[in-house]
Amino acid sequence: MEGIYFVPTKIVMGKDAVIKNSGDFKWGKKALIVTGKNSSKKNGSLEDVEAALRQEGISYAIFDEIEENPCLETIEKAKAFGLNEGVDFIVGIGGGSPLDAAKAIGVMLQNPELEIDNLIGGNLQSLPIIAIPTTAGTGSETTQYAILTNHKAQTKMNMGHSIFAKVAFLDATYMMNMPADITRHTGIDALTHLVESYLSTKSNALSDLVAEQGIKIWGECIDSLLSGYFTYETREKLLLASTLGGVAIANTGTSLPHGMGYPLTYYKKVPHGLANGVLYIHYLKVFKDRSKVEKIHQLLGLNSHIEFEKILTILCTHAIQVTEEEIKAYTSSMCSNEAKLKNHPEEVGYEDIYNIYKRSLQGN
Ligand code: NAP
Ligand code: ZN
Repeated sequence: MEGIYFVPTKIVMGKDAVIKNSGDFKWGKKALIVTGKNSSKKNGSLEDVEAALRQEGISYAIFDEIEENPCLETIEKAKAFGLNEGVDFIVGIGGGSPLDAAKAIGVMLQNPELEIDNLIGGNLQSLPIIAIPTTAGTGSETTQYAILTNHKAQTKMNMGHSIFAKVAFLDATYMMNMPADITRHTGIDALTHLVESYLSTKSNALSDLVAEQGIKIWGECIDSLLSGYFTYETREKLLLASTLGGVAIANTGTSLPHGMGYPLTYYKKVPHGLANGVLYIHYLKVFKDRSKVEKIHQLLGLNSHIEFEKILTILCTHAIQVTEEEIKAYTSSMCSNEAKLKNHPEEVGYEDIYNIYKRSLQGN
């Protein structure tokens, strides 16, 4: 039995976790709160964090300009803001976009001489990060990754520096009013993390335990995902599945669908989870060894791949238009993505990847 398993983030779970555990915010004298433009002001998360910081006598400044799929230019702007404010730790609130941005801003502020064009790649430290997810999808609160949009390279890239949050607060209350489409797309992202980890070359006994448990919990949410009606308990299950997905991919990385989904997000503006999800039926068909794929159906509580395909088709409804030239360009790009390819446990080539795109997006 071989493998390494490492997740150093303290995870604080439950209703009012932020207020009840305000002592866990004591990572410095002044916090930079990093968040998106709107949602954290409406779902109570920003208000709770401000109250917790006040409770601890910690001052703060708010940077609320993080867009979906945050780009390097926004990180640079936030760095200038943070330097000016003299902050010494970061609190990220939101979906994966603000959480990833928080990590990148943390690296820039810890290394103020670093130019933004040199941010991607390397092994630098960051200011301490606290992560408060308000979507149940990316698991960024328990991963070391930060996915950034690099307009010069015309794609999304992992920042490279390994930055785990010191503390993650999980409170499903913040998700109660999330629209059904965002819930489905982010929920699909969580499932894809669990599945890609489970099927990865790098999976090991411990990451498998986490992935299996996450897939099982996700399976208990299928009816809600289909109906669009979510109780607090279901929101909590989706959040737990998402965080477990983060723990799993922190140890194994993601694989083909994540690499293949990036151009769909960059060029076609497809939300991250949906971009993975639309490729899934044909991605799973590529596996010659069906044993683990079949185990996934069982863990989800489903009888067959046909049932799973029906669910994926409903949850990943899309109208993505791509040309033959675009499919070929995306395929070539994926063929040079060695980091993702090496996580896929079987031999795949240009034709396999082309077929996944073609059949998923053009249905033939
Ligand atoms: P997101 O881009 O963070 O947010 C999507 C939308 O959801 C935004 O409009 C946001 O509004 C809204 N939103 C957030 N929380 C909400 C809530 N509680 N209620 C209602 N609306 C809410 O989406 P995401 O899917 O969570 O994150 C995607 C990003 O994470 C991508 O860049 C992806 O590549 C990355 N990612 C990272 C990892 C990792 O390990 N680090 C893993 C997978 C994906 P506001 O903008 O107003 O907040
Ligand atoms: Zn993802």
